Amino acid sequence: MLGTAAGGGVPQWNCSCRLCDLCRKGTGAVTPRLQLQAIVSGDGERWFLLNASPDLRFQIEANPELQPSPQHGRRNTPIEGIVLTSADLDQVLGVLLLREFQPLTLYATRLVRQTLEANSFFRMLERVPRQLTWVEIVPGQPFSLGSSGISCTPVPLEGSLPFYAREMDTKEPGQASLGLVLEKDDRRVAYTPSVPEITPELRDIYRTCDAILVDGTFWSDAELSRTHAGTPAARSIGHVPLSGEDGTIALLADVDFPRKVFVHINNTNPMLETGSAEYRAAVEAGWQVAHDGWQLNR
Ligand SMILES: [Zn+2]
Repeated sequence: MLGTAAGGGVPQWNCSCRLCDLCRKGTGAVTPRLQLQAIVSGDGERWFLLNASPDLRFQIEANPELQPSPQHGRRNTPIEGIVLTSADLDQVLGVLLLREFQPLTLYATRLVRQTLEANSFFRMLERVPRQLTWVEIVPGQPFSLGSSGISCTPVPLEGSLPFYAREMDTKEPGQASLGLVLEKDDRRVAYTPSVPEITPELRDIYRTCDAILVDGTFWSDAELSRTHAGTPAARSIGHVPLSGEDGTIALLADVDFPRKVFVHINNTNPMLETGSAEYRAAVEAGWQVAHDGWQLNR
């Protein structure tokens, strides 16, 4: 995980909430986090990005495994492809940062592709022939991540296209929002940084996994609106809050086989403060709170 924060990061540029303030003071109570970015590799040489964060340039420069090598000529990258789980700006802006005439392979649903192609900025990725290769992914149908040996199954989630493209939405299940199940050598990892509802189907998927990386955006439904008046409730913007009888921690209490990890944590979430009651409650319930640099190895 090269970034573990929700949109805006921690601290967020225009936020002086208690947690952002604590983070800026640098006491260590709240660790800074870049915006969400996961990377996976089958061999440690060639890498796939799961979405592409607005912080991607910093994430590449801070991690040698993602950097070009002089052995392979002047222009090269170990990044073999990018899997998009939605058209949200926080998940796709990083793609525009990779435009410097570099051939890219993007895996996305038909609707996410159409949404991005309708945006003129993305034409910068098609300035030369074969710069951009789209691979259409279909909810429920496994596909191979290049030659990595990793199989990836898109899991359809409720969710609509982001505000900037809402008129393009077709309401087809899973076209606008996906989770991913990654498999290699009988090991399974679920990557679901945005969970609008914990359905029986999703619980069943989680039960079959060795590790689950789950939406940790908000601790409570009212947290965002309590911190910033006029902002929406967690559930209304597609995130099950972590606390409460109908929160993620309670609803997944009996999913006890996989390693359980929260990712995509908003700067308002009190769980970010390692000494807090909320952090302790998450850990005591068997969850890890991912930080930038967190790794899942065999
Ligand atoms: Zn804040």
